[in-house]
Amino acid sequence: MHVDTLIHAAWVIPVEPHDTVLADHVVAVKDGRIHGLCPGSDVARQYTADVEVRLTHHALIPGLVNAHGHAAMTLMRGLADDLHLMDWLKHHIWPAESRWVGAEFVHDGSRLACAEMLRSGTTCFNDMYFFAEETAQAATQAGMRAVIGMIVVDFPSAWAQDADEYITKGLDLHDQFRNSSHVFTAFAPHAPYTVSDGPLQRIATLAEELDVPVHMHVHESSAEVEESVAQFGKRPLQRLA
Ligand SMILES: [Zn+2]
Repeated sequence: MHVDTLIHAAWVIPVEPHDTVLADHVVAVKDGRIHGLCPGSDVARQYTADVEVRLTHHALIPGLVNAHGHAAMTLMRGLADDLHLMDWLKHHIWPAESRWVGAEFVHDGSRLACAEMLRSGTTCFNDMYFFAEETAQAATQAGMRAVIGMIVVDFPSAWAQDADEYITKGLDLHDQFRNSSHVFTAFAPHAPYTVSDGPLQRIATLAEELDVPVHMHVHESSAEVEESVAQFGKRPLQRLA
């Protein structure tokens, strides 16, 4: 069998069977998919390939999945990072975002994040940020899988003026990538303390209609719970339910 790529590795650690380490094995890749796996001693009998990669000191594992992040914020790494969440957000991150964040910022930050993720074995990430189309493009260029959040907050940014505009821009993105094999979308209302009831109700309806998941920060701090009880008479999860 002729395949596109053969990856020889000192150890191959598959997802299943569980707890298995295969010494001196080769993974065969054809048309973007794993075609087969065989011992190094057997590969010449089974495969030829356009490209052969030899990882003589490596363990080859499935790609890692980053389940939550804001890729473009790599450009803000270390900014006021020793403070409580609300102090950090209100007095440092939100002012910095309103000053600096634009399409170019998100493009560059997402490209950097993709490079760092790939270097450390992450091949799929779930993201939530402004100018989400830039992050979707960066993932595409890097050949990564991504779930791109259709972010919604009540307050304006350089990307959108109000919750309705965030939702409209998110839906455009959803349409643009609906047939993509590697970029998926999810609704991403930022948090219970940044999105009011109207947009949350609209998102709940749209998520059900489009069969799209919802990704959200919830219960990050005790302050969030206390503020919710004071403002709505309910804890955040009760209010969302
Ligand atoms: Zn987050």
